[in-house]
Formats: sequence, structure tokens, C-alpha cells
Amino acid sequence: MTSVAQILKTMEYGPAPESDAGAQAWLDKHRRSFGLFINGEWVEGHGEAFDSLNPATGKKLATLAQATAADVDGAVKAARAAQSAWAKKGGAGRARYLYALARLVQKHSRLFAVLETLDNGKPIREARDIDVPLVARHFYHHAGWAQLLASEFPDHVAVGVAGQIIPWNFPLLMLAWKIAPALAAGNTVVLKPAEDTSLTALLFAEICHEAKLPKGVVNIVTGAGETGRAIVAHDEIDKVAFTGSTEVGRAIRLATAGTGKKLTLELGGKSPFIVFESADLDAAVEGVVDAIWFNQGQVCCAGSRLLVQESVADRFIAKLKMRMENLRVGDPLDKGTDIGAIVSRKQREQIAEKVARGVREGAVLFQPERACPEGCFYPPTLLTNVEPASVLAQEEVFGPVLVSMTFRTPTEAAALANNTRYGLAASIWSEDINVALDLAPRIKTGVVWVNCTNQLDASAGFGGYRESGFGREGGREGMFEYLKLKTPKGMSAGLAPSTEPVLRESDAIDRTAKLFIGGKQARPDGGYSRAVFAPSGELLGQVGEGNRKDIRNAVEAAQKAESWSNTTGHARAQILYYVAENLSARRSEFVARIRAMTGTPKGQVQKGVEATVRRLFTYAAWADKFDGAVHNPPLRGVVLAMNEPMGVIGIACPDAAPLLAFTSLWAPAVAMGNRVVIVPSEKHPLAATDFYQVLEASDMPAGVVNIVTGGRDELSKTLAEHRGIDAMWYFGPNGKAIEQASADDLKRTWIGESRDWFDDSAEGREFLRRATQVKNVWIPYGA
Ligand code: NDP
Repeated sequence: MTSVAQILKTMEYGPAPESDAGAQAWLDKHRRSFGLFINGEWVEGHGEAFDSLNPATGKKLATLAQATAADVDGAVKAARAAQSAWAKKGGAGRARYLYALARLVQKHSRLFAVLETLDNGKPIREARDIDVPLVARHFYHHAGWAQLLASEFPDHVAVGVAGQIIPWNFPLLMLAWKIAPALAAGNTVVLKPAEDTSLTALLFAEICHEAKLPKGVVNIVTGAGETGRAIVAHDEIDKVAFTGSTEVGRAIRLATAGTGKKLTLELGGKSPFIVFESADLDAAVEGVVDAIWFNQGQVCCAGSRLLVQESVADRFIAKLKMRMENLRVGDPLDKGTDIGAIVSRKQREQIAEKVARGVREGAVLFQPERACPEGCFYPPTLLTNVEPASVLAQEEVFGPVLVSMTFRTPTEAAALANNTRYGLAASIWSEDINVALDLAPRIKTGVVWVNCTNQLDASAGFGGYRESGFGREGGREGMFEYLKLKTPKGMSAGLAPSTEPVLRESDAIDRTAKLFIGGKQARPDGGYSRAVFAPSGELLGQVGEGNRKDIRNAVEAAQKAESWSNTTGHARAQILYYVAENLSARRSEFVARIRAMTGTPKGQVQKGVEATVRRLFTYAAWADKFDGAVHNPPLRGVVLAMNEPMGVIGIACPDAAPLLAFTSLWAPAVAMGNRVVIVPSEKHPLAATDFYQVLEASDMPAGVVNIVTGGRDELSKTLAEHRGIDAMWYFGPNGKAIEQASADDLKRTWIGESRDWFDDSAEGREFLRRATQVKNVWIPYGA
């Protein structure tokens, strides 16, 4: 006799199809043909129209317009014309529209969900229960930011016109992530959806109309990569926001270099999913399902590298295989489907090719026996026996493919987790809070999930470290990406030449200042020095001519000083107070030196030195106060938004205010736990070389501040290219070359404008934000 348990095991799901009648009717209403949405109207595109297909069936859904560069120009002009009136509505005025959009997304939620499933192939359960609710949440949350804009972001204004380019994996959700903060901040937008998945963006255009959004505030241009390129290249785009492949992200970094366009890049990942022996293994198995089989694994933060503690690896893999046997691959419109269609044939082929290559390299393949439908479908896949350095462990597959490796200790887990050029997300599974929260800060990713995975919410910023891109989407930090400071302050002060006679140190010519590397004065590698002159042309002294080798040595010294990043803010504050005190004791010496170099009147130089001392006190004060935040997303848990140091920052100083600007840059970086390699003013470097003694007298640990004198632009380029530098701050005329040089490893750059270094705006939060990146750690909390 068959037992009930056996029956339950063998029972199949009955079909539970979601009707697509509403979505088909909507397509029919538009005669299955769409134009571009520009200035609140539907207009024809001038490029060759293309088809949008349902990947699950291969059937055509609609014909879409291809926007040419001229069409993009029309959209940008419409956005530009609409921007100032939109900004003038004020945050509270715009909040009403964002709220209306949120309501309309909810009102049409089933139509959006079904259309998304038809166009992208994702299971209806996910489109309905995850994508669309998160879209509505994003608009509600940002209606709130718009309302609070004036009080929470004082001194900030909208950037202007945002060009936004999104991928095909979460078409509507990525649209919401881009459009909601942009509109809340007062920008207008030109958005290009992915060629394969434009339909929900076109339905969204319709609800913009329904919400009576002013014409030109949202413009949607469909098309392929060329359309995206035209947006990026357009002169009147002030900000580019991109989500997609690292390769295209890099091309956009190069294309925008030197243009002054603000840029955020949300790129790929190879996120680790770490299971400790102390984990609830059954819960972790369900976690893996959500990590890599959600959305067919086509998720930038997918947990695609499974790292399991050796002691439980066999047991865990056995459980996982059993679970895989029960995953249902098939019709995305069926509510019982776990894994739907891959977005396109091309993407499916790429997945299959990468897996075949992994198998050729020795990986062991496991796929469940349950049949996988023909066409654009791919079964859940597990590859074991994978080497950490192999292509499968390093490259994004962007499909339902998991690779697994083992580790013994938490330190080994951290090393494996960080063994990637990416840094988007990580998931840690352990019932032991000490194990999980000890590892979280050691992983170099923008998001860490503890005992959960793929959690996303509008309140918590999302974005990567390293080559996963820069900038954050969501939360307060996401708002800053669409804002800029109101008034750039006037030109740099402190350079008016004096007519007074200038005193000069008698021994200046005999002494050649060396470089300062790893806490020691070091001769320049090339053995050359450069002369430093007074405005009168008189020779004041010599400084070392740093070269590539010196930069390499300085970066190495800075990397070795990693413990600075782990010291407490309190300890860092004490050292900065000490530096301030020691500088204060030698004020007159610095005044004489700066006067000699710049010829600036004594009173002004004195003010500059006093301001430098004050600035050091300010950053000593900030060192233990630039705290993160705790977010309360609508689920069981909290998100700790931790301000982490960037790591090693390269800094190139302007010539203006040689001591004040120099200190205004290194001090916030160091206060936040970074180590720096700094190129002081090329023209007036002697204040920085005199500063060695202040640092030495102040117990600044070796390698935290490294100073290399020489040609600013040459040294900066070497810094920008160096993979050991995590961020580059450059104050000079050659920002384009620096941004270009940074593209290889997608380094964060700050091309500083000339500013009044005496002004209060030359210190504080803006500098601290540049010196940190937010890591969002999701932890269970409450019932
Ligand atoms: P892309 O990076 O090419 O596409 C992302 C978006 O950029 C699309 O709208 C695309 O248009 C557009 N685009 C393409 N080229 C340019 C360009 N030169 N300038 C401006 N915009 C451009 O990703 P793919 O769709 O080609 O996918 C390739 C791989 O990228 C995937 O296999 C996956 O590994 C990764 N990927 C990562 C994503 C992530 O979220 N991190 C998302 C999507 C893909 P169009 O689609 O019309 O070509």
C-alpha cells in the first residue's frame, strides 16, 4: 500500500497559469507598435524598428522604435526645457507626483507584473510578489525624500538632466531605482530601457501621463547600445546613471572622462554565499535557492560562489542537490514555476558556453534529472571541484549556475570571498552571531546579508566596491548621487603676491627635501630633484623628483598600514589633535616658509596657518562622529549602514593655499581611516615637506601619510592607474587624463574644482563622504 508520505513525494503540481489577457489587450490597444516617449508625447523613432520577443515562446510581442542620436537629442532638449520648472516645484511639490506614480504602479500592478513576465521570462510569482511591490515602495520612499529635501539636503540642488541606461534583468525595478531619486531631487530624465525588455518602461510612460507629470520630465527612448551611447555622449546630459555589464560601464567611464558629467555605475558581481558549520543548513539551502535561482540567476548580486565550511560540505551539497531536484523550470506564467525563461537566446548560449568551458577545465557538473523545456530555458546547475582562480569562479555567468568551493577557517573564507575583482554583495550563514559579525567587516562588498540573501529595499543604499562600480542607489546616499552643492565658492585664495620684502631661510638652498614614505624620509628613486622658486625667481630650495617607482613604494607602504583602518575613531582623533598641536607650536616657521614660496602678505598667510590648525581640530572632532545609520526596511531585520574607509586614497593637491589645501585633503581621509599617498602642490611643495617633522613628532603611524613631491600630473596618472589605490582625488586642470587612467579598475575619482580653501565649505561632510563608502549589513532583528 502506498503511504501518504510517498504520495506527497510523488505528487505533481497541477497547472496554475496566470492569464495574460490583460497584457495582450494592452499590446493590442497599441497595435503592438510603440514610438518614443518624448516631451509627454508618443513620437516616431528615426532608426530601424525592432521586435520585442517573449523569450519563453519566441513569439513576437511588439515592434519598438529605435531612437537615433537625433531622437536622443530631442529627448534631452525636452528634458532640459522642463528641468527648471520641475526644480522650482520644490520637494513638496514633486513629492505629490512621486506619490501619484507609486499609487498608479499599485493600481496597475498585475498588468505590470504580467507584461514583465511576458517580456523578460521571469516567473510571474517573482514579478508579482517582488519586482512590482519593490517598484511601488521605491516611489513611495522617494516621495518622502522629495518632501524632506530642503531640510535634509540643505545647500544642495538638482544636478540637471540625467541620462539613465538600464539592463534587462529587472526592467521595471531598475527604472524605478533610476527615476524615483532623480525626480525627487529635481532632475529630469532621459531613460533607455534594454533592447530586450522595454515594454514595462513604455507602460510606465503611460502612467506618467496618467499622473499628469509635466511634459519632458520623463522621456523614454527605446533602442540598442547605440542609443545608450548617444545619451552618454550628449553634451547636455549632466549625469549618467548606468546599470549593466562591467565592460560597458568601463566604456562609459572613458566616454565621460573630463566632461564633468556626474556618474554612477552599478555593474557586475561574483558574490560569495558563505555557509559555516554553525549555520542552520536547511535554511541556508533555501537561501541558496533565493541567491542563485531567483530570476534565473540573472541578478547582479546573485550568490553565485558557494563557499562551504569543509566539515559540513558533503552534507550541505547533498541537501542542496535534493532541493535542486524539486525546482520547477518552465512556463513563466505558471504560478508554480520556480525558474522561468532566460532573457534571450544569446544569453542562454553564453551561459551554456561558460558552463561547457568550466567542465573542460575540470569542474564536476550537476543538473537535476527533471526535464528542462526546450528553447530559452536553462536548468539549475551546480559545479563542484572548481578552482578559485578558474574562469567559472571569477567571471559572471549571469544564469542559474552555482560554483562551489570549501574553506576551513573564517580567515580562509574571507580570503576566498575577497578573491575577485568584484565587490557587490556577500551572504553569510551562521547561527553564531560572533562568527557572522566578525566576518562581515572583513568582506569587501557594498552589501552583506547575514542569514538572508538578495534583500533589497529603497531605504538601504545598494552598490559595489571595486569593479562592481561606484555610487549607491537607494537611501540617503542614493539621493546625493542626483544632487550637487548649490554654489561653487570663488577661486582659491591665498595667492595674491606681496610687495613686502620676503624673508628666506638661510640654509634653504643647501637642503634637498626628500620624499616621505612609510614614515621615513626617502631619497627619490631617480636621484633627481626639482628646484622651488620664490615669485621673484629666487631659488628657495630643492625637493625630490618622485617617479613611478616612488609611487609604487608609497602605495606599498600605505597598504601595509592597513591596521589604521581598523583603529578606533577615538585613537585617530587623538593623533590628529596631536598633529594640530605640533603644527600650532611651529606656526611662525610655516608662515615664513609659505610667504617665501608664494609671496602672499603675512597677515593672509598667518590666517591660512591658523585655519590649517583649526581644520585639523575639526577632523579630530569628526574622527569618531561620522557615524553610519540603522535602516528599518519593511521586513524582519535591520540594515546597518556602515561608513567604511575607501582604503588607500591617492591625492593630488592644487597649488593654491599650499598648506591649507594639502591638510584639507589628507586630514578627512585619514580621520576616516584611510591611508594616503599625497602629491603636494607642485609649485609650492616646501610646506608639505616641512610637515614631515610635524607628522613624525605626532606619533602618526608609519605609512598612513605618504608624501611624494614632483610633477603633479605625471604622478597623479601613475596613482590613478595603480590597482593598489582605491580612490583618487585630483585638484588640477587635467581631470580628463585622470578619469581615463582610472577606468581600468573603475577607481572612484574626485576631480576637484578650484575653491576657496578658507571657506567653511572646504571642510566637513562633503569631504567625509568622499573618504568613505557605505557598506549595508542586513541582520536579523526583532520578531
Ligand atoms: P550591457 O551592459 O550591454 O547592457 C546594459 C544596458 O546598456 C542596455 O540598456 C544596453 O542596451 C546598454 N548599452 C550597451 N552598450 C552600450 C554603450 N556602449 N553605451 C551605452 N549603453 C550601452 O549588458 P548585456 O545586456 O549585453 O549583457 C551582457 C552581460 O552583462 C550579461 O551576460 C551579464 O553578465 C552582464 N549584465 C550585468 C547586469 C547587472 O545588473 N550588473 C545587468 C545586465 C547584464 P541594449 O540592451 O539595448 O544593448
